[in-house]
Amino acid sequence: MKAVIIGAGMGGLSAGIALKQIGLDVEVYEQVTENKPVGAAISVWSNGVKCLNHLGLESETAALGGIVDTMSYVDGLTGDTMCRFSMQPLIEEVGQRPYPVARAELQLMLMEAYGMADINFGKKMVAVSDGPDSATVTFADGSTAEGDFVIGADGARSLTREYVLGHPAERRYAGYVNFNGLVEVDDAIGPATEWTTYVADGKRVSVMPIADNRFYFFFDVTMPEGQPFERGTAREVLAENFAGWAPGVQKLIDKLDPATTNRVEILDLDPFHTWVKGRVAVLGDAAHNTTPDIGQGGCSAMEDAVAMQFAFSDHPDDVHAALAAYESARTERAGDLVLRARKRCDVTHAKDPEATAAWYDELRSEDGTRILRGIVSNIVGGPLT
Ligand code: FAD
Repeated sequence: MKAVIIGAGMGGLSAGIALKQIGLDVEVYEQVTENKPVGAAISVWSNGVKCLNHLGLESETAALGGIVDTMSYVDGLTGDTMCRFSMQPLIEEVGQRPYPVARAELQLMLMEAYGMADINFGKKMVAVSDGPDSATVTFADGSTAEGDFVIGADGARSLTREYVLGHPAERRYAGYVNFNGLVEVDDAIGPATEWTTYVADGKRVSVMPIADNRFYFFFDVTMPEGQPFERGTAREVLAENFAGWAPGVQKLIDKLDPATTNRVEILDLDPFHTWVKGRVAVLGDAAHNTTPDIGQGGCSAMEDAVAMQFAFSDHPDDVHAALAAYESARTERAGDLVLRARKRCDVTHAKDPEATAAWYDELRSEDGTRILRGIVSNIVGGPLT
């Protein structure tokens, strides 16, 4: 049984490792010529960490992860702490600590686990087709690859998705832009083992620890889509958007490196439930493109990979049965996470300012119970629960 995987992002690589683990032949093709992930870091929640552990990467993941012992919300304007609470109840309930990690380091870990030399770089898929006995991918250089099945892990603008659905799918601008990067840990911004989030006026500034004494930071700014931006000017843009905010936020703006600060317009896609056509399937952002508001897009891609492994373990000689099992295990769960993230996104970014003001009030009386319950409900429900 041979799988052809398009895309060496966290979804494609996790799937590659997962299928190799059960003895399938795997070929991975990636359009870029080098490992250059977009974005600074991600939070791998406990469900994602469990998937990485399952792929044999427990100690490697822990070594890259920051230790988040507490979580807090801070009034962005006054700097007053609205709530602060321990993460321990969540860790105990789900049985795994979450790990924020640098994207480049996560990507490198997955590439090395899959086998760097086995990744075919510089191969841009331009077409995919399906036949009675195999599926075939055509690349921009005119070459082709054939497998018993094809996994399109080709990201948010997936060509495979268009093939599987039979039409292009329109993504939706979520209403905000995310600026992100890495800085050295600084107590003036937030405690070293805390996920600190400043909120006010439908905007958000957050820092969370990753390995080696660094914070992953991000700023969410609501603005129309398609505003001009010159790379390297993040400090000016953020200083203007967060003028008058608390000293911790000003410190972060002073400290960040504008040259390495990323700016990402946030989009998502309505959930859809057809993930398979014949011998071709979508996985990761190609199948479920979410806003990052609950930090579950990449975790969900890892869950897809584990579910794909389970499906081929259960149906080792039947591609169609395996892909059908994969699809039915995943579409509802992944779609639910997209909709949860969208809901969270709207409250955080003041789509309805009254609802957001009510949320700020709730935060002032929060002891952690409600927030952790919400996060736990995102974490549970995947292939490893
Ligand atoms: P990608 O990472 O996009 O990889 C797709 C790969 O396919 C790319 O390498 C691309 O070059 C390749 N490719 C595309 N087209 C072709 C082609 N035609 N031929 C060959 N190769 C191709 N998730 C979390 O779990 N936690 C978080 O905290 C989190 N934070 C986020 C913050 C932001 C600002 C954003 C934007 C996203 C965040 N996410 C987070 C989501 C996460 O980044 C994605 O869900 C994840 O990267 C999806 O992985 P993927 O492998 O499906 O797609």
